Amino acid sequence: MLIQQSELTKQYDGILASAEIELDGETFNLSRLERKLLDPNRDVRKKAQQARFDFLASNKEELDQIYDDMVKLRHKMAQQLGFKNFIEFRYVEMGRNEYTPSDVARFRDYVHEKIVPLIAKQRKKQAERLGVKELHFQDEILQFPEGNPTAQGNPEWIVEQARQMYSELSPQTDEFFNMMIDRELMDLVTRPNKAVGGYCTNFPTFGIPFIFSNFNGTTHDVEVLTHEAGHAFQAYKSRNNKVVDYIFPTMEACEIHSMGMEYLTWNWMDKFFGTQTSKFKFYHLLRSLMFLPYCCAVDEFQHWVYENPEVTPADRKAKWHELELKYLPWRIYEDLPYAEEGTVWQFQKHIYEMPFYYIDYALAQICALQIWSKSRKNMDEALKDYIRICEIGGSKTFLEIVKAGNMHSPFETECLDQVIHEAENWLEEWKN
Ligand SMILES: [Zn+2]
Repeated sequence: MLIQQSELTKQYDGILASAEIELDGETFNLSRLERKLLDPNRDVRKKAQQARFDFLASNKEELDQIYDDMVKLRHKMAQQLGFKNFIEFRYVEMGRNEYTPSDVARFRDYVHEKIVPLIAKQRKKQAERLGVKELHFQDEILQFPEGNPTAQGNPEWIVEQARQMYSELSPQTDEFFNMMIDRELMDLVTRPNKAVGGYCTNFPTFGIPFIFSNFNGTTHDVEVLTHEAGHAFQAYKSRNNKVVDYIFPTMEACEIHSMGMEYLTWNWMDKFFGTQTSKFKFYHLLRSLMFLPYCCAVDEFQHWVYENPEVTPADRKAKWHELELKYLPWRIYEDLPYAEEGTVWQFQKHIYEMPFYYIDYALAQICALQIWSKSRKNMDEALKDYIRICEIGGSKTFLEIVKAGNMHSPFETECLDQVIHEAENWLEEWKN
C-alpha cells in the first residue's frame, strides 16, 4: 500500500511538473507563472490566475481521482493496522505523541477567534494600499501596488549575499553555509519540468543536508535561503547523532528552525533588498500572520476528509468552500468559477503528499514569532536559544524543544495574545 501511495504521489507531481501554461505568447511552468500572479498590473494577475485554474480544470478528472484513491488507500491502511481511521494512524506515524486532534482543534479555534478578525482588518488595509475597492483573490498575494519587494540581483549574487550574511550571523552558520556552497548542496533555480516547491532533505550517511527550490525572481527566493537553510542548519548541527531518527525532530518542531531563521536574519535583509528592506520586513511579518488562517483551513479540511473517506470529490470541494468562508471570509473570486467551486487546495502539494503536515507551519509560526520578539530585545539570547534547539535536533519531543528554546507552547493559547499583539502593533506602526 505504501508503494501504491508513492505511485499516486508520482502521478500528482507529474501533472504539476508538466504544466505548460500559455500566456501572452510565452510558456510557463507553475513556478515561473508565480511572477505573473504577482504582476503589479491587475489584469495581468487576473489572466495569470485564470490560466492557472484553466490548467487545474483541464486535469480535473485525474486530480480528483488521485486524491480520492489516496484517501481510500490511507483509510484502508489505517484500518488494517487496527486504527479507527487515518487520523489516528497519522498522528502516531508523525510522532505526535503529546497532543491530540482535539488540542489541535482548540488551537484552530484560537486562530479563528483571535487571528481571523485581525487579518480581515489587514486585508482591508491591503485593499487601500493597492487602491482597489474590493480585494479580489488575484490581489491577495500582492502587498504593494508597485510590486512585492524582490532581491536586487541574480541567483549567484543572492547566494553570495547569503554567504556574507551567514558569516556575520555566527561562526556556526558561517561554517555551515560555506560547506553548503563548497559541496554543491543546493539546487535553487527553476527550469522546465522541474518539480514544484522547495524543501530540505538530508543524507545522514554523509552528514549533509540538501536544499531544493525554484528561484523565480520573487520575494520567495530570499525566503528559501533563510527558511530552507534553517532546516539545513539544524540537520547539520544534529548530524553526529548516531540515531538517524534523531536528526530531524517532528515536523512542527522542524518548522521552528526554518521560520526562526527567517526572523534571526532580519538584520541582514538590507543585503538583498537594499532600499526595499523595510517593505520586505512588513511583507514578511504580515504574510506570516496571514498564513495562519489558511493553515487552519487546510488542517480542518483534512480532518474532515479522513473522518469521511467515502464522500465524493464534489463533496470535498463544497467542504473546502465552506472552510474558506470560515477562515478566509474576505476572499472574493472574480471570474474564476473553477476556483470558486472549492478547488484551490488542489495546488497544495502537502494535502496530496504529506497528509496532516500543514498545521505544523501554524504551530511553529507561533513559536517563531516568539523568536522574532526575543531577537528584537536581545539578539544574543535569541541566537543562543536557537542554536540550542538546533543541536537538540530530534532527540526531544516538540513540546520539550519549545521549552528548551524558552518559548510558550502554541497549545497554551492564553499565552499567545502577547506576541500576536506585538506583531500587530509592529504592523500598525510601520512606515516605509
Ligand atoms: Zn519548512
